[in-house]
Amino acid sequence: MIILNEKNYIELLLTSDQIDFSKPYQTLSLLARYYCHIRGCNGDKLIEQLQDFMKQHYPRYNPVDWTSCIETCAERALKYPLCQCDGVWITSSELDVINQIKDKVLERLVFTLLCLAKYHNFRNKNNQNWVNNPDSEIYRLACITTNSYEKDIRFHKLKEAGLIDFANKIDNLSIKVLFVNDESEKRLCITDYRKLGYEWRLYKGEDYIRCSGCGILVRKTSVNKKYCKDCVKKNPYYTPVGIKSITCIDCGKHFNAEAASRDCRCDLCKTSHRKELQKLKMRRYRNKTTV
Ligand SMILES: [Zn+2]
Ligand SMILES: [Zn+2]
Repeated sequence: MIILNEKNYIELLLTSDQIDFSKPYQTLSLLARYYCHIRGCNGDKLIEQLQDFMKQHYPRYNPVDWTSCIETCAERALKYPLCQCDGVWITSSELDVINQIKDKVLERLVFTLLCLAKYHNFRNKNNQNWVNNPDSEIYRLACITTNSYEKDIRFHKLKEAGLIDFANKIDNLSIKVLFVNDESEKRLCITDYRKLGYEWRLYKGEDYIRCSGCGILVRKTSVNKKYCKDCVKKNPYYTPVGIKSITCIDCGKHFNAEAASRDCRCDLCKTSHRKELQKLKMRRYRNKTTV
């Protein structure tokens, strides 16, 4: 996960009573860097701090399991200062370039690449608009579900359009964004890197809201929707209004869905329909590449 302001993130984490340990290594590494650079802790004292934190918050903490992880985090902390970025500005000329693409998926993809390039520029003044995140992460942040064929084809289309370039070395998969223009007028400030693809959709006027619990962007599927999937579980008294009944166009079964749902198939038919589409797509792709 990319956190723009790591100092704020850790300070919030330290005041919360329920710590998310889904990525314990990332959490510990951030904490180590926080104690090191903000509170001036290092060496054995830093290790002690991390151990104390785990003792207090990690369920069934067993020191033996964590010794090497804690030591590595403490060792590396000094080398990596905390990122304290309050937001990345996208400028008017950059937005114009993306708006000219007229392909919603490519727009989201290149917007994500732009945000990543600017983030890496912030962290490293010599970065020069390069992005070295793995493809899978780029697509996840762009909120695009796809297969590996299409991943490459989309990157290729962006290159053809003159928007990105690839590194010359064969073993280097980095992408350089060619239309960064920090001189142009600041227009859109991105402060959350969890759902960059949705940030673009929101900018384009689509119905997205920020979750009242955790702030993540989610599609607004009902008039009173306030929470994301994860936070809704923590608010048992809240249910979104507006449930409608839909008749599946394939099997004729009736099923309930949220008011804004655009589904026309039940879950079962949706899966087989998707598989069928995938098959057709693969066939088309093979015909194109074998001739
Ligand atoms: Zn949430
Ligand atoms: Zn069905």
